[in-house]
Amino acid sequence: MGIIKRMKLKYYSASQIHNGKQWLPQGSVIAISDDGTVMDVLSENDIPAADIIHLEGVLCPGFVNAHCHIELSHMKGVVKEGTGLVPFLQSVVSERNKFTEEDKQAGIVSALKEMRENGIVAVGDIANGTDTLPYRTEADFHIHTFVEALGFSNENIEQRFAWPENVYRQFAAQQSVREGQILRQSIVPHAPYSVSEGMFKAIDGFDEGSLISIHNEETAAENEFYEEGTGQMFELYETLKIDAGFFEASGKTSLQTYLPWLAKSHPLMLVHNTFMNAEDVKVLKESGREFYLCVCPNANWYIEQRMPPVKLFMESGLPVCLGTDSYSSNHELNIWSEIECIQKYFPEIGLEILLTWATYNGAKALQMNTIGLIEKGKRPGLVLIRENKIERIL
Ligand SMILES: [Zn+2]
Repeated sequence: MGIIKRMKLKYYSASQIHNGKQWLPQGSVIAISDDGTVMDVLSENDIPAADIIHLEGVLCPGFVNAHCHIELSHMKGVVKEGTGLVPFLQSVVSERNKFTEEDKQAGIVSALKEMRENGIVAVGDIANGTDTLPYRTEADFHIHTFVEALGFSNENIEQRFAWPENVYRQFAAQQSVREGQILRQSIVPHAPYSVSEGMFKAIDGFDEGSLISIHNEETAAENEFYEEGTGQMFELYETLKIDAGFFEASGKTSLQTYLPWLAKSHPLMLVHNTFMNAEDVKVLKESGREFYLCVCPNANWYIEQRMPPVKLFMESGLPVCLGTDSYSSNHELNIWSEIECIQKYFPEIGLEILLTWATYNGAKALQMNTIGLIEKGKRPGLVLIRENKIERIL
């Protein structure tokens, strides 16, 4: 104890402490160094009462927003709610570039500030270009940038892959300037309906162990397209002037169709999963892969007015994490609001599980093992939840 005390530690206790995986016993105290490293988890009997900072509320590690599009932060309130995915995408495509560079930059700056204030310590961020590049080093949290590849054609793959590869190389050349900030990037498929088999294989081969995220089974039309070769997806291709005439339905869900196109060496983060079924869950469980299911309930409600089957995921023991998606489909970038949304539709899922999704599972999904857990040697950040409001302690 003598040595620890000389390092000027802060000792925090709270009404309840969640360490990222579970509730800690009553009377637990977290010893934190100046730089935010957890030095020990103790009992209040080990520390003089006068040295302990007691907080009223739930104390937990900083939140992980596993899926966001920071570059779309200028689109708050632009896209209509409840239209379904295809009209939503048509609207995003037509509206996203009707803004000035200043609008886009201001959106990014305010999104970074908002997420920091909402207790977020790491973000999985989708990028279609380099708009967020100059701001990554300014963010007061860790960022994994998912550079999206698009191309629903098996022709000219090399030419089409040049764009994401160029964007990726610019992100990869950037060094973090803040001590301890993790900045990473990988090239990922946008969605099963916007990436051809050839493009999947180009992504797969680019970096064999890279973390891959994909918008998965976000709409019923996506599975109808793969299972039957019919439906609303063709309207999207028409808008985007894509010739999908070559496409042949596999007779399986989108997930079951593309999964074999990605080597098992890639950890996977499947985002949305609004229309994932029990057969998909079985296939995933038996796949021998490292995978995470990211749910973005507020965005699903905004776009489709539908909740993902989170009870099925929970009962199947699948690792769930949380994301806000972007301002084109959400009113705020706040993981606590995602928890509240799940509580509203699934009151039987307890806070202990939801906080694990928001912290530890998100950190695992982003392959960031210094955060997400209050444990000796980690730097998880600390968040206090009090009367349904978030206060950032560290
Ligand atoms: Zn998204």
